[in-house]
Amino acid sequence: MKVILLGAPASGKGTLTAVILQDMGAIHLSTGNILRDNIKDNTPLGIKAKTYMNAGKLVPDELVIDLVRDTLEKIDKSSNIVFDGFPRTVKQADALDEILKELDIKLDGVFDLNVPREVLYDRMMGRRTCPKCNKAYHIKTLKPKVEGICDDCNVPLEIRADQTDEVFNERMRVYDEQTKPLITYYKEKGLLYELDFFERINDVYKQMKEKLGI
Ligand code: AMP
Repeated sequence: MKVILLGAPASGKGTLTAVILQDMGAIHLSTGNILRDNIKDNTPLGIKAKTYMNAGKLVPDELVIDLVRDTLEKIDKSSNIVFDGFPRTVKQADALDEILKELDIKLDGVFDLNVPREVLYDRMMGRRTCPKCNKAYHIKTLKPKVEGICDDCNVPLEIRADQTDEVFNERMRVYDEQTKPLITYYKEKGLLYELDFFERINDVYKQMKEKLGI
């Protein structure tokens, strides 16, 4: 299964991926996670990406496209793959198309997660992340066993630098302007599936499996 998850920031792409990984195993290709790891390690890519990310802007297309190409060239092509947060612009989608053709990888579907904007806001602000394994928690809906501590790594959870009102508004503006056009882009290719909003992620996953016929 090779799928792309589309959806606004905090629409649940990462959480849905975690469910897929647990149920059937997959390579989780999250450009956001890779970029954050690069920032943590202070790599040249991380240094370039940091200013854009902290301001809620998109990192330049060339940087993320190269990063995705490098990752895809190294993986076992028969694995399940979940693209989470990539592509985010038409230019990235065109590049992904080319890379997938070169590597003879076929997409099974592109899933758009529909989530009301006020839910996105609550989710984004209550989010806590493990700096070690990137696992996502929420102060109300997805609490760790011990408050503020990662269940798996036993380290304090962090608030991401991009969790502010200003950055939230900017990320929504960028999403509407640059990423939303991908809905039409993939609809025209006959690959798009809409996922309705459910509070429980397992219900979203059930809907996704039904649409894929698995
Ligand atoms: P995410 O964790 O997917 O919400 O991404 C966090 C931030 O990383 C975004 O707000 C962007 O600044 C950057 N980013 C992640 N993926 C991409 C992408 N495909 N294109 C451009 N910037 C990205």
